[in-house]
Amino acid sequence: METLLATLFAAIITFLFVRSYLKKLTVAQAHAAKSVPSAVAPSAGQRPCPRCGKAISAGASFCPHCGAALAMWSVHRAAAQPAGAAAAGKPRPSINASLCVGCGSCVDACPERGTLALVGGKAILSHPDRCTGHAKCAEACPTQAISLSVGGVLQTVKVPNVKDNFETNLPGIFVVGELGGLGLIKTAINEGKLVVDHIRQRLQQERAGPLAADASDLLDLLIVGSGPAGLSASLTAQQYGLRYLTLEQAEIAATIRQYPRQKFLMAEPVEIPLYGSLYVGDGTKEALLSVWETILANTGVRVQTNERVERVRKNAASFQVESAKGRYHARCVVLAMGRRGTPRRLGVPGEELAKVSYRLIEADSYEGHDVLVVGGGDSAIEAALALSRSGKNRVTLSYRGEDFRRARERNQQRLAAAEKEASIRILRNSNVAEIRHDSVTLACGATPVDLSNHYVFVLIGGESPEEFLRKTGIEIVEKPLQA
Ligand SMILES: Cc1cc2nc3c(=O)[nH]c(=O)nc-3n(C[C@H](O)[C@H](O)[C@H](O)COP(=O)(O)OP(=O)(O)OC[C@H]3O[C@@H](n4cnc5c(N)ncnc54)[C@H](O)[C@@H]3O)c2cc1C
Repeated sequence: METLLATLFAAIITFLFVRSYLKKLTVAQAHAAKSVPSAVAPSAGQRPCPRCGKAISAGASFCPHCGAALAMWSVHRAAAQPAGAAAAGKPRPSINASLCVGCGSCVDACPERGTLALVGGKAILSHPDRCTGHAKCAEACPTQAISLSVGGVLQTVKVPNVKDNFETNLPGIFVVGELGGLGLIKTAINEGKLVVDHIRQRLQQERAGPLAADASDLLDLLIVGSGPAGLSASLTAQQYGLRYLTLEQAEIAATIRQYPRQKFLMAEPVEIPLYGSLYVGDGTKEALLSVWETILANTGVRVQTNERVERVRKNAASFQVESAKGRYHARCVVLAMGRRGTPRRLGVPGEELAKVSYRLIEADSYEGHDVLVVGGGDSAIEAALALSRSGKNRVTLSYRGEDFRRARERNQQRLAAAEKEASIRILRNSNVAEIRHDSVTLACGATPVDLSNHYVFVLIGGESPEEFLRKTGIEIVEKPLQA
């Protein structure tokens, strides 16, 4: 009851803040439209603000004119490195405590148990001597809080090549949020808003006048993804009266939904002078989700869920966006797809149940459960091993093949040892037939097998965001991971 009241209270407070933010936004935008800041040529030791174009000192953290937080452009402005420029050798991680959100993804991803630990809600290198340089921690970290270096030389990360205005090498296609290289909810919210500010200005210039309703079915913008970046972009587009559509492959805020239950979020208030404030207070993921739902219900923002964008093609003067359910045309496309990609699905009855996940986060939060892991690659094996570690879960690994040869040798050995000591039960040549609330049915040859079940992890690959970007024609570059 207390949690319900707290969630309700948080939802009301946030809604009031958001409403006031949107009101201020209208005023600020009207003001901005009247007095578009003239870009002043920067002198020595100065550079233009990526937001307002006015000259600011090179070392500034905030623009003194429009208040933009310049850290938001740290990845966009970093010089691209030649491919493969990273130093050879075993990389060593270092953790930026101010970016770490204590999700434990790195602890789970590290194959060398005990190297990393969560202490006081932050990841630390508790046994650096055990680190053998797998670099899985940096890959798994959702907020890029872990940087890797070899002999003091920073390693690189692959990101889309994006300009200060979030536009890619394909004019009209923009990338925002975590997909652009910077994690954190607040950054994603800020970028989603800024990109639509920019698109609106551009559309206004193109039409040389106030935005007019267009009779055709051509959208002003199509937003892909409804995480914090996509939702913020959608809210802003709604506020400006743009013709927009948001498509989401799963449910609204799918990444946040997949956090561990009751995960405490580190979501600071998003303060941008001139725009006003969008407040998302610290709280659980459940509270944040309920806030988003309240915002959507009250603003009428439209998101078409369970509709995955499969392809974006350039037409003469617009883009054709294809999903399994339809074909849309838009002047601009905002990719707010995050970094988790599109997991391959089983396509069986019951897969939509909340207990089915496509990623394991915080294995230690599962205790005393019947868990089914599906897959035969490294991710599935590592998840099964992590879930069996405590000895408190009953873990079954279902694989449609016979052997695990495509996994790394070390994982094969560990899995064989776990099977021998019966900490993991392996069902080879098996396929999931149906998932129910408290059980699953597997087809093992011609024989159906029913298992008691609390959680299912489907780790059978999928399309990475990098593959999506490449097939769309977006340039990907390597940039140094932040120090
Ligand atoms: C376990 C964990 C804990 C975290 N804790 C915190 C925290 O405490 N504080 C914090 O600030 N940050 C935290 N983060 C990071 C934060 O969640 C991300 O930085 C943020 O969600 C990024 O927002 P986004 O909108 O860019 O991407 P996402 O939130 O990932 O949203 C992308 C959306 O796009 C959809 N999508 C992807 N591909 C397609 C497609 N082809 N078609 C249609 N839709 C598509 C996805 O389903 C998803 O809903 C955490 C992350 C994880 C994994």
